[in-house]
Amino acid sequence: MVLLRTKDELREWTTERTGRPRVLVPTMGALHAGHTSLMDLAIKRAGDGDVLATIFVNPTQFGPNEDFDAYPRQLQADLEKCRDHGVTSVFAPEADEMYFNDATISVHESRLSHRLCGASRPGHFDGVCTIVAKLFLLTQPTAAVFGEKDFQQLAVIRRMVRDLDFSVDVIGGPTVRESDGLAMSSRNAYLSDEQRAAAPIIQKTLREVAAGIASDRFSSPETARAALAEGIASEGLARIDYVDVVDASSLETLETFEGAIPRLVAAVFFGKTRLIDNVGLPE
Ligand code: AMP
Repeated sequence: MVLLRTKDELREWTTERTGRPRVLVPTMGALHAGHTSLMDLAIKRAGDGDVLATIFVNPTQFGPNEDFDAYPRQLQADLEKCRDHGVTSVFAPEADEMYFNDATISVHESRLSHRLCGASRPGHFDGVCTIVAKLFLLTQPTAAVFGEKDFQQLAVIRRMVRDLDFSVDVIGGPTVRESDGLAMSSRNAYLSDEQRAAAPIIQKTLREVAAGIASDRFSSPETARAALAEGIASEGLARIDYVDVVDASSLETLETFEGAIPRLVAAVFFGKTRLIDNVGLPE
């Protein structure tokens, strides 16, 4: 496995592989089974080509009061996981390698990113789009894999690829969960034992309400939203940032179930830790 630390090394890597499949898996490290499941998908997709995982805690997607400094960093352990999963190359730049201090150009998304997570994290999705666009330009991948766990992020990236004409197939990987249903996340490590025991309420409620929609138990998205809020709030430690029933591609709040593909989404604080999750309707 090759470890690349600079943009110049990455450009050279890309040039050497011209004409071969290259699948990109962008991450912020602190890798868990959710991330490695994306690597497994990438390896299947790449065939005899390359899988490049990137490990970079991207400062531009963190707000001023967020956990950029505290975000877990464990490069050696991450590299071992990449190697174990058959990743051929890893790009792990130092913090100051990716951006010029006086950079004035970035990618701005003006619709999908204002709601849901974007409402409480202004600038977050522009930071995500900018780093992903830079990685696409540096590596010119044939495909890139992102987790459905960050459903809004996946929708925003699909939109960026469409609107900016990137020739990259965006592949969504299903959410990997702990045995009690909690979506795996690097931020789960911040939870106290008590909060950790309470956190599966998010997934449990999302799943119950999704099953209710599938069996016509809710007359409207509005009543399903109310059930989501009530179910999650029944856990005393949970503080809801948002719950919603949205259209799976536009992310707009659904007014009716007629003709829609609903996605149930939630962001919930346990103490200072903000967890997100989402589900579609059961098959
Ligand atoms: P992050 O390191 O949090 O930026 O995540 C890197 C990639 O892993 C993103 O595409 C995430 O959506 C994805 N990811 C994070 N957690 C999970 C999970 N539990 N299951 C599947 N994918 C995940």
